[in-house]
Amino acid sequence: MTIRVAIAGARGKMGMEAVHTIMKNESMELVAALDYKEVGTTLAALDEFPNDYEIPIYINFSELVQHTKPDVLVDLTNPHCVYERTKEALLHNVRPVVGTTGFTDEQLEELQQLAKEKQLGCIIAPNFAIGAILMMKFAKDAVKYFPDVEIIEMHHDQKLDAPSGTGIKTAQLISQARGAKEQGHPNEKETHTGARGADFEGMRIHSVRLPGLVAHQQVLFGGTGELLTIRHDSLNRSSFMGGVVFSIEKVMKSNTLIYGLENIL
Ligand code: NAP
Repeated sequence: MTIRVAIAGARGKMGMEAVHTIMKNESMELVAALDYKEVGTTLAALDEFPNDYEIPIYINFSELVQHTKPDVLVDLTNPHCVYERTKEALLHNVRPVVGTTGFTDEQLEELQQLAKEKQLGCIIAPNFAIGAILMMKFAKDAVKYFPDVEIIEMHHDQKLDAPSGTGIKTAQLISQARGAKEQGHPNEKETHTGARGADFEGMRIHSVRLPGLVAHQQVLFGGTGELLTIRHDSLNRSSFMGGVVFSIEKVMKSNTLIYGLENIL
């Protein structure tokens, strides 16, 4: 069966890569793009895409669903709209595959409940790169031996949310294995606000934003007389595409919300 895919965020850095990936995949059909402003009637009308990408662009999601009947909505947009978009997809019986980061815990819980009620698959993946999933898995293992840990995540300077979804997901996984722990000196004091990074159950997450970066993360463990660093680098956005294809296939066979590819790989 060919999977009918719609995409939100097609003009973006991740979206463009995903459009080409889906167009090349023989078991998928890209049926529509979802935008929030008038940019053209089809992807072919945009400079970013070849002339034969006759994929219609919609602004209204109900119309998109009515006209193109997608099975899956891939969301690669931004943290401000992603929750509403994902909810709207589920309400229209379209299975979301979401790469956009920036969900709150409450939003994740609500979407989990909605996916359950609708008996629909929904995949929210803070990171689609296999190496990043392994980094998180290894970090969860390592913390049993090295309970003092700090995370440094580094991204391009156009990223809107901080810490990154991967940074938060890594902290959550580590916290499952370790629990809360006060780190550093009990009397430490920041002379400049933010110097010690974000506090996640005692773990510190530092967010670096610079042009030239794509998506990188180090998980630093400190022990007695030794240090362990687990590092992952996405050097370009093709690193995420295997995970996008895998998620589109997987979401069709699922009837619950899955948060993080480590749960299904
Ligand atoms: P980007 O280049 O800024 O692309 C986002 C695109 O979405 C832009 O074209 C933007 O249009 C469009 N957009 C904004 N609001 C929209 C809406 N309501 N409906 C439809 N389209 C909308 O960002 P990116 O680097 O591609 O990243 C996109 C998201 O993926 C971010 O949240 C990022 O953190 C995440 N990400 C995830 C992974 C992963 O592995 N899960 C990897 C990398 C990035 P305008 O520019 O015209 O506003």
